[in-house]
Amino acid sequence: MADAHSVTVESWRPSLGSLVVLAAIFVAGLFLVGFDQGHLFSLVQGEVAFDQSLLHELTHDMRHVTGFPCH
Ligand SMILES: [Zn+2]
Repeated sequence: MADAHSVTVESWRPSLGSLVVLAAIFVAGLFLVGFDQGHLFSLVQGEVAFDQSLLHELTHDMRHVTGFPCH
């Protein structure tokens, strides 16, 4: 005689809010790595951040490898 076991399979779907937060993090990261020329640090440092461009220098090699515009 066969045993009668039941298996419950729950489907999981991410909430819309978590997808929106994840998309915002992705877009912010994409901007900071690919296009920031001192914009983020200019909020704190002012105009000198555009001359230093610290995030650009930090991610410079990765920009070239991934084909982002650089110089
Ligand atoms: Zn470059």
